[in-house]
Amino acid sequence: MDRAHQRQRIIDAIEENRQAIIEVAESIRLNPEIAYQERAASALVSSKIAELGYEVEREAGGLETAFRASLHGRGDGPTVAVLAEYDALPGIGHGCGHNLIAGSGYAAAIGLQAVMGEINGMFEVIGTPAEEAGGGKIQLADAGIFNDVDAALMVHHAGDRTGVASSYPDGTNLAVTTLDFEFFGKPAHAAGDPFNGVNAVNGVVKLFTGIDALRQHVTMDTRIHGIITHGGDAANVVPKYASAQFFVRAGSRDYLLELIEKVSNVARGAALMTGCEVTITERETCYDMRPSYVVGRRYQSNMEAVGLEINHRPSGRGMYSTDFGNISYLMPAATGSFAISHDPIPGHSQQVVDASGSDFGYDQLIKVSKAMALTAFDLLTDNDLLGDAKSEHENWPPKSGA
Ligand SMILES: [Zn+2]
Repeated sequence: MDRAHQRQRIIDAIEENRQAIIEVAESIRLNPEIAYQERAASALVSSKIAELGYEVEREAGGLETAFRASLHGRGDGPTVAVLAEYDALPGIGHGCGHNLIAGSGYAAAIGLQAVMGEINGMFEVIGTPAEEAGGGKIQLADAGIFNDVDAALMVHHAGDRTGVASSYPDGTNLAVTTLDFEFFGKPAHAAGDPFNGVNAVNGVVKLFTGIDALRQHVTMDTRIHGIITHGGDAANVVPKYASAQFFVRAGSRDYLLELIEKVSNVARGAALMTGCEVTITERETCYDMRPSYVVGRRYQSNMEAVGLEINHRPSGRGMYSTDFGNISYLMPAATGSFAISHDPIPGHSQQVVDASGSDFGYDQLIKVSKAMALTAFDLLTDNDLLGDAKSEHENWPPKSGA
């Protein structure tokens, strides 16, 4: 059975199930569920994939709304995974188009099911909750769900743009962590005996001003932004408790770790100078994305092969963060970005909710799913492709021009 014929059968299988795939995406769009609550979406996608003969593990990695669906090939070989997100945004619904990502997971399962019996390796669709808040992929990685995966693929809408990052630093973004600071002081009457009080709000104020001083001495792509989450209870009482939350973002995981230490030292200094106690809580950390350009170039040529119009404009580092970055530190990983609109639209918006359910959006979903499924097939059947991707991954960052 030659590869060209198998590739055509992948395309045909997805095309024949076009309506069923769109129904899955539309059902999720009309019933948006936020991070960690994607019960209906996870159940729908995983049960549809189970019907195709995949072995489905629900609550994968201990996350209620995660799943892993696996289909063995004829014999041993690499494992390639497609990651399906399905969480919505509070108050907006599917303003990031994750209903389409869920649909692409089902579509890819259909496509690969058509050929897995003839090729070696394993194909998986992993349902990854909570991209918008929490970082479900980080928890799944910590639980070992990706330990045996050799390469990971995704799709994501990109407004009016279609293409895949194919040279450094295109497709890279920012590592991010969330830090919670809690300052503990001592209450007193603000006029009667303020000398007996320790003002927790002062600690928060010094934290902000100290971070502002730090800004002079960080790299250009650093972002540090925060809010006061508790600023006292009454102006005539010396505040005994105050808190703030900051996002710290950096161009690499390693630099982020340095910044976390510097920002934490500012907090400790603020506590020392005001007499407060401070506790610092670090939440999940998203690493910066290390996109596989080797896989990306193949992915984009597969996009062209299925009739997607490429209009991607390579850019520098993206000023955003995603938990797919953590996966990209583990293995070659690539995202197929696709247009759902003919005109530019803002992210996390009602326009995305609408475009994610439009005829054009769904037509593009079918096409990009075919391209992703073909890329998974290529990774399973073309040893050079996977080998080149792994050596690129081991030698990050790629030399310029790569
Ligand atoms: Zn998104």
